[in-house]
Amino acid sequence: MVGEVTPMETEQKTGIVYLVGAGPGDPGLITVRGVECLCRAEVVVYDYLANEQLLNYAPGEAEHIYAGKIGGRHNQDQAEINQLLVDKARAGKIVVRLKGGDPFVFGRGGEECEALREGGIAFEVVPGVTAGVGAAAYAGIPLTHRDYTASVAFVTGQEGKGKDESAIDWERLSLGSGTVVFYMGITTLRRNMQRLLEHGRSPQTPVALVRWGTTPEQQVLVGSLTDIADRVEQAGFKPPAVVIVGEVVALRDKLRWFDTRPLFGREILVTRAADQAGEFSCMLSERGARAIECPTIKLVEPEGWEPLDAAIHVLSGYHWLVFTSGNAVRTFFRRMENLGLDARALASCKVCAVGPKTAETVAAFGIRPDLIPSDYKAEGVVAELAKLDVSGKKILFPRADRAREIIPRELQCMGAQVDSPVAYRTVLPDRLPPEALFALEKRSVDCITFTSSSTVQNLAGMLGSDLLLDMLKGVTVASIGPVTSRTCHELGLKVDIEPPRSTLAELLAAIERHFGRELP
Ligand code: SAH
Repeated sequence: MVGEVTPMETEQKTGIVYLVGAGPGDPGLITVRGVECLCRAEVVVYDYLANEQLLNYAPGEAEHIYAGKIGGRHNQDQAEINQLLVDKARAGKIVVRLKGGDPFVFGRGGEECEALREGGIAFEVVPGVTAGVGAAAYAGIPLTHRDYTASVAFVTGQEGKGKDESAIDWERLSLGSGTVVFYMGITTLRRNMQRLLEHGRSPQTPVALVRWGTTPEQQVLVGSLTDIADRVEQAGFKPPAVVIVGEVVALRDKLRWFDTRPLFGREILVTRAADQAGEFSCMLSERGARAIECPTIKLVEPEGWEPLDAAIHVLSGYHWLVFTSGNAVRTFFRRMENLGLDARALASCKVCAVGPKTAETVAAFGIRPDLIPSDYKAEGVVAELAKLDVSGKKILFPRADRAREIIPRELQCMGAQVDSPVAYRTVLPDRLPPEALFALEKRSVDCITFTSSSTVQNLAGMLGSDLLLDMLKGVTVASIGPVTSRTCHELGLKVDIEPPRSTLAELLAAIERHFGRELP
């Protein structure tokens, strides 16, 4: 039997196509199922209107194909996309066809499915939040409301081009009070508003256009059936936008919530240190800002693993294991696993985590820390261990290469024997992320935030201090506290915002106070 291949291995893997609705723009509006499909995609074919950030869910090696180039509105191009989907699936690939909004609402998803069925390809359709629904919600316009209307219609604004007869029943659409939502309706706005008037809709009916709905770029223009086309022309309002017609539009005055957030429309560059993850960006986004992340530090492996591995081999000899960052925790447990060990190797060793975040990371590996100081800093660790008398005790402290020396130094002074192997190194990233660079060059950035001295120093290190000063001309500088501000001053940067206390929440509040006065 040796060498025999099981049928499973010889069988050609069959592909599948997931038609996934990406939602209208806000990346949080994709469905859980949509994310699941992206996570296992081998090929992603995406549209102009699908938020590119969603591609980050796909595995790193997945192929990304932008269908906007071959897409557009032409039948021939659509045929090419259909063929591409069929070919990739036939080659055995898991394909995600990522489409703006919902795949079956003006998205040609129906045509793509027909082509897949004809080609004998398996498919699944994952619905999405369609632009009409998403944009209305973020503009504060309920599409139906018991006091105003009981129906809503989604209509294409492009219908009838090249056709003599309209397939839209304008009479029925215009009579009564039903809300009408036009997609692709800007170029034909005047004609379509005219049709509604001619068929009996009241000239006073309010109309709203929502452009780039659900995104930080959202713009809303409100008028009436008679004047909205002029207003759109005057404002130079461009696609993509939905046109919402109906009495419900009047509720926006009372219900708008998204574009009234304190930082709405502000572009804020968030320089990020190693362990901060995206926390501050999330806080800013929730207040309406467009947060652009700019990592100023990259984590890389130590020059060699020997010192850390050697310590792990003799873990039972240590009394305490001290962690001051989540990175150290993750690296430590990964090395332990590499050496064939698991959490039991720590049975005789007490564990200290510098604060609740680090403690959470430790807990994720099955260990409940014995000690978390009340002051979440190296000084706090030293103070708590001092109370426990560590004289003569062996302490293991896996750390970053540039970590402050305070823990090993102070504990040694107390008579402890401290080993502090390097678990990871921090280096400067090679360059700024393209989105950050683009925003700085365009001079569209309103504010840059610095949450530690190293974020300032590293950014200057990456750009050079002359270029840094030049690029930040006219940009409001927000610093978390006096130490960071001093570093800014040393580099020639004027600090505009500094909160009374050095926490992210207070920094956010100070930024809001600064920009709150001049809402766009
Ligand atoms: N399948 C998509 C619609 C594609 S047709 C969906 O379900 O949403 C393209 C039209 O959708 C655009 O012309 C515009 O009218 C609308 N649209 C898409 N994204 C939008 C957005 N973020 N804000 C406003 N309108 C949007």
